[in-house]
Order: sequence, then structure tokens, then C-alpha cells
Amino acid sequence: MRALVVTGPGEVEVRQEPDPAPGEEQVLVEIASCGICTFERRLFAGVKPWYPVSPGHECAGVVVAAGAGVDGLRGSPQVGDRVTIDLLTRCMTCGPCRRGKTGLCVNRQGRKLSDGTVAFGGFTSLIAVDAKSAHQVGGAPIQHAAMGEPIACCLHSLRQGQFRPGDRVAIIGGGLMGRIHMALTRVGGASSIGVVDLSEQRRDEAEESGADWVAAPEDALKVGGKADVVFVTAMGGVDLAVEMADRGGAVVLYSAFAEELKISIGADYCHRNEVDIVGAFNQDIEDWRRGSTLIRSGVIADDLDRLITARYPFGRAGEALSLVTSEPTYRVFVENATA
Ligand SMILES: [Zn+2]
Ligand SMILES: [Zn+2]
Repeated sequence: MRALVVTGPGEVEVRQEPDPAPGEEQVLVEIASCGICTFERRLFAGVKPWYPVSPGHECAGVVVAAGAGVDGLRGSPQVGDRVTIDLLTRCMTCGPCRRGKTGLCVNRQGRKLSDGTVAFGGFTSLIAVDAKSAHQVGGAPIQHAAMGEPIACCLHSLRQGQFRPGDRVAIIGGGLMGRIHMALTRVGGASSIGVVDLSEQRRDEAEESGADWVAAPEDALKVGGKADVVFVTAMGGVDLAVEMADRGGAVVLYSAFAEELKISIGADYCHRNEVDIVGAFNQDIEDWRRGSTLIRSGVIADDLDRLITARYPFGRAGEALSLVTSEPTYRVFVENATA
């Protein structure tokens, strides 16, 4: 099999590795498409200098073999099935896992290439994964399936914010994650959805894609008013989010933030207004189940189509990584020829 390794800032190489074999409870998946996320962008740009590493955590493909324990098992993916892959390991034994917070597992089991290079698994051509971590997507386009991980993360965010049908939603940040929040809250029954972004182009694109209102940060309160749930998917805008959250509402801190960034909110204000400030990180198993079902159903297919910026063959992954480090994109995919 092939594995893509980032060896330094702006440097990638393709390595030949022995083919993995599926274990008893595993499936072997031929990876067809893998999205480039923030981690890969920062790695390639040299912002996260952690080399060498074979990254890629947003992947999808087709099952080509199944272990004896899951071959023919009803409900489990079978040979020929298109699947989106959950690459997080969940030990089910540590404190967070025992509470069902498996996305926060403190006992992760990593993958490695034959020479010990850390591998996430997405930027390879073949992967053996536990069958329980592969989720069927029916006949959905493979790029939609490759967005399974960010979709599961955003569904987790909706749960963290206790989003319900009828809620007024404000989303700070109109990038890929903001737009996925927009699609998911729309199909979840939001009564209105607004997108706040510094970029006029991103605001325009969110509006074309169905946002009820869009605004620059300084106009957000005037244009959108208060919201029941405010999702922060940008690296800033937290104070604005607190200001926008109505009484009884919630602010979800979805994005990563600078370590020194603090939230200024009064304890008494929180008490009197019952405003929740919650984090959202990774996803749990049920988020994958919901996410893969939504992908398969096609109800957010148009939204996902709009988020496909470009697709590159495996051998041109360097160009794909250069593109995401040089200009704003939604999702750029690195693909094997098996889709
Ligand atoms: Zn990601
Ligand atoms: Zn655990």
C-alpha cells in the first residue's frame, strides 16, 4: 500500500508499505478520498513542526475484506460497502470513556508505519480498522463520506449546545465547520440561522447557501439579534458570542483558540441568565451513527457539494497541501483512483 508522509514544511513523500490484513473484528478498507483539515494545513505550513508524520483523519473508502468475526454480521459493513471511517480509538475503560465521552479518551492507541513513523491512517491507500469504526453511507458521493469526521464533530457540537428544533442559531465563522453547522441546524429544524464572518466573500457564500442572515462581527447583534445557540467556529468572536446568546441560551466553543484567550462573563450574569458556555471537541460514537445516516440520506448533499473546493490524485498531494496553505478553501481532497 501507499502512505503519504509529511517530512518537513512544504515536503511530502509517498512511501510503499506492506499491505495490512484485517483482524478478526476488523474490515480492510481501500481509502478513496481523504480531506485536508486544519492539522494537515498547519503541519505542511510549518506551524506545527512535527515530522515525519503520515496525517489524514477525514477519510472514506470501500470495504475490500472483512475479518471472520464480522464477515456476514448483520448491521456491520460488508465487502463492497462504502464507508466513512472513525479513526479515533476509544478504550471504553478510562474515566471519560466510562461516562460515554469517548471523544475525550485519555488512552488512545496510535498507528505507525513500518519504520515507526506516526500515522493517522487517512493518507494511505489501505487501512485495517475495527468494523465498529466503519460506518456505511450507502451510495453517497465518496467526498461526502470523507466529510464524515467533521460532520460527526459538528453533530457533537449541536448536542453540547442542546440545540433543539425551533432554536434561533448564530454561527460565528463561515468556513467549512460553520457551514456544516448551518446545514445540520437547518435539517434539525432551526427557526433561523445567521452566519457572522469577517470575510465578505464567506458571508456571500453562506447567504447563497441558505443562511437567513449574514453579518460582519460589528453588525451581528443589530442584524441578527439574540440567538438561542451561538456556535463559535472561528478563532475569535467569543465575547460577541456571549453577547449574542439570549437568556437561557448557550455558547458552544467549537473552534480551537489561543491558549491565553479568556472569556469575560460575570458569574452573576451566568446565574441570572442561565447562559451555558460549553466546549465541543471530537465526537462520540452516536455522532458517527447520526452523521453517516445523514450523509446516506442525501438531505445535506447540496450543502456538502458546495464545500468541495478541489480534488487531487494521491501523487499530487503536495499541490493539494500547497493550495490549502496559500488561499482560503472549504475542503480539498486527496484521492486514490478507487472511488
Ligand atoms: Zn478534521
Ligand atoms: Zn478511554
